[in-house]
Amino acid sequence: MKYKSYTLRNFREIPQIVKLRKDERFAIEVVGSVLPFKTNNYFVDELVDWDDPQGDPMFRLNFPQKDMLEPADFIRMAGLIGEGAERSEITEAANAIRMSLNPHPAGQMEKNVPVHNGRRLEGIQHKYRETVLFFPSQGQTCHSYCTFCFRWPQFVGMGDLRFASSEVDALIGYIRAHPEVSDLLITGGDPMVMGAKTFSMYIDRILGANIEHLRTIRIGTKSLAYWPYRYTTDEDAPDLLRTLGKITQSGRHLAFMAHFNHPRELGTHAVKDAIRLIKDTGAEIRTQSPILRHINDDPKVWSSMWRAQVKLGLIPYYMFQVRNTGAQHYFSLPLVQSWDIFREAYQNVSGIARTVRGPSMSAEPGKVRVVGVTEVEGQEVMVLQMLQGRNPEWVLWPFFAEYDDKAQWLDELKPAFGHEKFFFEDEEAVDPHHQLRLQINEL
Ligand SMILES: *Cc1c(COP(=O)(O)O)cnc(C)c1O
Ligand code: SF4
Repeated sequence: MKYKSYTLRNFREIPQIVKLRKDERFAIEVVGSVLPFKTNNYFVDELVDWDDPQGDPMFRLNFPQKDMLEPADFIRMAGLIGEGAERSEITEAANAIRMSLNPHPAGQMEKNVPVHNGRRLEGIQHKYRETVLFFPSQGQTCHSYCTFCFRWPQFVGMGDLRFASSEVDALIGYIRAHPEVSDLLITGGDPMVMGAKTFSMYIDRILGANIEHLRTIRIGTKSLAYWPYRYTTDEDAPDLLRTLGKITQSGRHLAFMAHFNHPRELGTHAVKDAIRLIKDTGAEIRTQSPILRHINDDPKVWSSMWRAQVKLGLIPYYMFQVRNTGAQHYFSLPLVQSWDIFREAYQNVSGIARTVRGPSMSAEPGKVRVVGVTEVEGQEVMVLQMLQGRNPEWVLWPFFAEYDDKAQWLDELKPAFGHEKFFFEDEEAVDPHHQLRLQINEL
């Protein structure tokens, strides 16, 4: 199957696009000028239900909708585009709206970029002790773009908002100097957009460095949902699979961290073939998704997705709360509602699928999970817990927030029982991990 992408420039060439009303096509143009828009022939031919696109979760996953912008922003952009304004004027207005959409949430720019030998290592993030994230510069795009994507600044050309690096030497040097790092997570964008040659260059270098304490290589990817032909019919698919096999043959664990948002994405022949080929390399495939209004805000969707995943040999891993960036107002649910959906879905699958954890916020101090809602001494509270912490000692301690059925993110919650601060806000930034990093950098 030959890959063909559709963006703002050529989406009117999508054969099925005539099924949309004129105002729906205009909305794509307006919203797509602010948020990144890209889809492809697999997605439009095999996943979207063109008989009812407006009610279709797959359609909403790729195609911009009017309501994804705030009404005032939509009117402003629609006006400019409608009157045929200059490109530069449209871009300027789009950038102003983008800057209002919190383009880098959870302090990822400021706090997670490590320093090694006095240099900031752009393209690398290290937040949780065991796991280093690497953003290879050739992987900073995807086969299609999710309308909810929190990495959208990377795709719209907002200069240094891009995390990118071809500095594999720096990466290797950094991991070697950090014996506490057991996992390397290669991410993007989507690293599986890389050609097999480029990908194997990275992997050969990393494996060739022979770092004993690097035990797991993870690949964060949406390619199984967006372009499964990457593993089946793409010309360099056999080379790509061979490189994946080299990782497991080196004695390391290879984990695909696969994004699936809806069971529909698991139903095609192409995705099933791709899963089998990846598993044949010795890899495990773990799955994750945010919980999204208009797309998967239904416990039945989640339980059937987890069941389908288990049947195909995949391991359900995370349910995330949508980040506070981009079109969050369109997709996000209150935390309490996310927990209701999680609980009901979890109750309806066997223990084999209960490897999944959530709903979890990737917030500034860590990955914070809503454990549940309960009553303590007559006060209704939310019980929370960190699954990952900037300080590893924070992990798993339960803590309490006042019940709030509207809050959608950690920073909207108040500590319960009249406390001023959550426990992790009380410490004087004593972060053993960070201290260690500073010491090593001084050597
Ligand atoms: C989620 C995440 C990881 C990986 O966490 P696991 O719980 O080990 O899967 C690593 N780094 C960052 C910044 C993350 O957000
Ligand atoms: S696949 Fe991931 S990085 Fe790419 S657009 Fe979707 S959410 Fe964003």
